[in-house]
Amino acid sequence: MVTLFFYENPEQKILGSFTAKSMWLSSYIVMLFLGVMFSIQTAHASELCQVCKLRKEGQFYVVKNRYYKRDIIMCRFCHQLDERCEICSLPVLPKTGLRLPDKRVFCPDHAKTVVVEPGQASSVFSKAKNEAMDILRQYPPLPHLNITFHMVTREDFVREYRRTPGIDNPYTVAGLTIPRRDENGQWIFDVYVVHGLSEDTFLATCAHEYAHTWLTERETRVRQVHKDTVEGFCELIAYKVASKLGMDREMTRILENPYSRGQVNALVAAEKEYSFYKIVRWMTDGVDSWVDVEKMPRLLALRDGTKEEEPPVVLNWAPVQRTQAPQKLILKGLSGTGNHRFALINDATLAANEEGKVRVGTSNQVVRCLVINSNSVIVQVRGENAPRTLLLGL
Ligand SMILES: [Zn+2]
Ligand SMILES: [Zn+2]
Ligand SMILES: [Zn+2]
Repeated sequence: MVTLFFYENPEQKILGSFTAKSMWLSSYIVMLFLGVMFSIQTAHASELCQVCKLRKEGQFYVVKNRYYKRDIIMCRFCHQLDERCEICSLPVLPKTGLRLPDKRVFCPDHAKTVVVEPGQASSVFSKAKNEAMDILRQYPPLPHLNITFHMVTREDFVREYRRTPGIDNPYTVAGLTIPRRDENGQWIFDVYVVHGLSEDTFLATCAHEYAHTWLTERETRVRQVHKDTVEGFCELIAYKVASKLGMDREMTRILENPYSRGQVNALVAAEKEYSFYKIVRWMTDGVDSWVDVEKMPRLLALRDGTKEEEPPVVLNWAPVQRTQAPQKLILKGLSGTGNHRFALINDATLAANEEGKVRVGTSNQVVRCLVINSNSVIVQVRGENAPRTLLLGL
């Protein structure tokens, strides 16, 4: 029994064509034609299937994989499996990986990374919200405690989606923000994100939905822009969060996602050209309702009567570098006014009486922010007996 390689390309299966990998085999055949004996040992070489991880002989398939950006060698048995991983599209062996009720399947590697636990979902949402707030911090009001987050199954997601009229197919979108007014006329939001996304995609989706809450809070100031541009702006926030956290694969996914019909790509290009501040100004006071990459200077055209303002002064919050979390708790900044004040402690933005995970060195501490003063905060660190006071910048 010899080992045969079949090369498959994603569009069209090409079976039986030999390339470098199986040169020895072609030469074996050629040598047979020439009547030359060939070492039988070589012909018996076995190959390791990268899916079932078994060393086998027989037919092998070489399949181009977009996720891993390389060829994957798999045995005939694995190649014929019907179930494919939702994330990497590799075949999934029976009784391995994860199967969700909506028929999505995940390979063992990705089963470990998809968000299905409510606790994990909430902490990913908090992280995404903190990062998005950090990007938007100079443009209040920032929605914060008025957001209720829900991770839902696809079935529940579709049900929620259909309560309010929308034009998207609820089977193809992953996040939904429903705004409503409370009895005092204040905005409150329900954010729904579908379970079973990779942690990075889940985080980016949460950041996108946070951007919707922010746009709604600003609605009295933000004029009517095209729906695709709204979605493009929310994708821009998700893209910026992904970029800040070094999530390269997620950045690519966002740019390749046709959902905003190219508006995210136009906005990413516009931000490079003119700065994020100009984008926010355009969203608020621009003339056009759509970003045209061919007419980028139109982003500078503002409605009549709009005051030309100086860009906001950058607060003393340094952009957070995930890899360089301080070794102790540091109050890096204070923002907001009245009852809506926030403290930036290491990488976490906390309101008074809010508890959250704060990155310290390479681990996390659970910190509750008790009081926010003008240049200090009082916090209770979980596991410590007494509260501590943190002074700004120390
Ligand atoms: Zn296999
Ligand atoms: Zn996978
Ligand atoms: Zn959206």
